[in-house]
Amino acid sequence: MTCLLCKNKKMTRGTTVLPIECGKAVLLVTDIPARICANCGEPYIDEKTAKEVEALANEELNGLISFKKRRNGRTLVVTEFAA
Ligand SMILES: [Zn+2]
Repeated sequence: MTCLLCKNKKMTRGTTVLPIECGKAVLLVTDIPARICANCGEPYIDEKTAKEVEALANEELNGLISFKKRRNGRTLVVTEFAA
C-alpha cells in the first residue's frame, strides 16, 4: 500500500489513537492496530478495524448520554481498543 500523503510504500505495524466527537463529549480510542507510514508517520486503519472502532465508540457513547446531560463542560473519555 502507498501512503496518500507522501507516496512512500513502506509501512510498519503500530497502533494509533482516534478521537471521536459526540456533542460535548470526546471519546478517545487508543491502541488501535494500524499501519504506520515509515516516512511521515501517517496511520492507516483497515476497514474491518475502522468498523470495530465505530461499534465500540457507539457503545461507549450510548453509556455517556445520561452523564453528558449533567455536565456543562467538555467530557473526555479514554477507552482502549481491544481487538
Ligand atoms: Zn507517508
